[in-house]
Amino acid sequence: LAVKGVQALSPYQPGKPIEELARELGLKPAEIIKLASNENPLGPSEKALAAAREALSEMCLYPDGNGFDLKQALSERFGVGMDQITLGNGSNDVLEVIARCFADRDSEVVFSQYAFAVYPLVTQAIGAKGVSVPAKDWGHDLDAMADAVTERTRLVFVANPNNPTGTVHTADAIEGFLAKIPEDVLVVLDEAYCEYLTGTEYPDGLELLERFPNLIVCRTFSKAWGLAALRVGYSISSPAIADILNRVRQPFNVDTVALAAATAVLGDEDYLNRSREVNTEGLKQLADGFDRMGLPYIPSAGNFIAVEVGKQALAIYHALLEHGVIVRPIAGYGMPEHLRVSVGLAKENERFLDALAEALSAAG
Ligand code: PMP
Repeated sequence: LAVKGVQALSPYQPGKPIEELARELGLKPAEIIKLASNENPLGPSEKALAAAREALSEMCLYPDGNGFDLKQALSERFGVGMDQITLGNGSNDVLEVIARCFADRDSEVVFSQYAFAVYPLVTQAIGAKGVSVPAKDWGHDLDAMADAVTERTRLVFVANPNNPTGTVHTADAIEGFLAKIPEDVLVVLDEAYCEYLTGTEYPDGLELLERFPNLIVCRTFSKAWGLAALRVGYSISSPAIADILNRVRQPFNVDTVALAAATAVLGDEDYLNRSREVNTEGLKQLADGFDRMGLPYIPSAGNFIAVEVGKQALAIYHALLEHGVIVRPIAGYGMPEHLRVSVGLAKENERFLDALAEALSAAG
């Protein structure tokens, strides 16, 4: 019954839920650690939690469909106009609305091999042709992606940093790339992990918007801001693009609790700083652990690392589950010998590394 593009879709594979594994192993959920979905290991910001609790009392009313307070807070934080912002039910929602607004069955959509799974998914769902460009050193080959643009290309997705590889391009590389893309092709710069970037050589997509009116920057509250369950993401673009996106998105796509929590967390700079610190330390802890075990890994700029454990990756994944540790197999991304592990708290990273060492030695 489904249309052609939809028939060919494979569903997005989320990380295994904690409750499910706890049930399988006969353990309490608190005994399981989940490092599978690039969530924030700190738990929620107290400010966000208080705002969310208060907002619950409004649950019988529709949310503010324009998200005025959140847009105002984003506008103040980033120095952009409120008319440049489109809010989404997670940034996945924004990515999907972008595809629906700007591509159709006659279009090509360019993305990289090993790039975030939602790009091919939203492309296929609208019946457009996805053009997957071979990666270079696990990251986007920006030159090859620019060369892949044809008269039919309407959209290009670039994840910076990328998930699941953690690779990142410098500001110079991204600017050079944007300069090569025709003005009538939209470039989506997905900065879901940008808050974790520590060097000054990386781009802030927002600074590029004036020079490149065909740019859409997407961001999320799911990672460094710790609100993954509430589903809040947004894009910042020219007002003309935002106007189109806002016509097509669902009128109440971000709920009242989510709007309140996201607005409040933007005022919790301490939380953001702690998120960054825990991540920087955790990335190092994991990388050091892999070095000790002699395992190759892809240096990451995100809040996760893809580690190469070889052909037995799926068996290692299952062995880790037996230890109560959930990570993410990424064979679906064409990386069957890697596992992706999200950065946890120090004790969680340690428990994962110990379980990994045991699983590897049991696998021989
Ligand atoms: N972009 C990238 C690169 C991601 O890794 C993710 C989350 N896995 C998203 C977008 C979507 O995040 P959300 O819908 O939670 O905002």
